[in-house]
Amino acid sequence: MKKHHKDERTLVIVKPDGVQRSLIGEVISRYERVGLKLVGLKLVVPTEDRVEQHYTLDPQWRRVTGEKTIKSYKDKGLTPPSEDPLEVTAKILKGLKKYMTSGPVVVMVWEGAHAVKIVRKITGGTEPLTSDVGTIRGDFVLDSYQMADADGRSVRNVIHASGSPEEADAEIAHWFDKNELLKYRLIQDGVLYDVNMDGIFE
Ligand code: ADP
Ligand code: MG
Repeated sequence: MKKHHKDERTLVIVKPDGVQRSLIGEVISRYERVGLKLVGLKLVVPTEDRVEQHYTLDPQWRRVTGEKTIKSYKDKGLTPPSEDPLEVTAKILKGLKKYMTSGPVVVMVWEGAHAVKIVRKITGGTEPLTSDVGTIRGDFVLDSYQMADADGRSVRNVIHASGSPEEADAEIAHWFDKNELLKYRLIQDGVLYDVNMDGIFE
């Protein structure tokens, strides 16, 4: 049976800089207020292995991330650190392992209609310098590829959010056991999803 739109799930991680900046509550409230439902939540210090596996679950990630970085340099009229996407990504992955294991992170699963796209929209683009005002990455942090690459570290952008429903399924299975994810109804679900908004007047 095809899953209903409202059953879509996505994985979000408040990265170590987000936890240190005391943004856990702010981040949760932004996803909560749009109507998404929290169905899984944990505070952990990840291992380097778990971080590497997380980023390489998608076999295309190394190429795509390298290309995205190179394009961003060129769009700003700057010279990228290398023309080879895989060489660019090897450095990024090394930085990510250090960054993501530097302190506790909050791993969450959010559920609701278009969960993946809605969460990416609220989170904003990867690079805080160019991510939109009003998004988490646009509002709470000021890092750039150039600044991160010059120091040989990861872009500190507070949040990880799955990029597609397929990526979300793989990432959720990577961080959570099935029994850690809860299926339950929120009172507001009726207003968001039922065909008729019945039962308001007595
Ligand atoms: P997103 O997190 O928006 O899906 P990517 O999957 O492309 O972005 O990259 C994963 C993470 O790696 C980013 O969130 C960021 O922390 C880091 N990163 C990406 N590109 C660079 C780069 N050029 N330099 C440093 N860190 C990077
Ligand atoms: Mg990504």
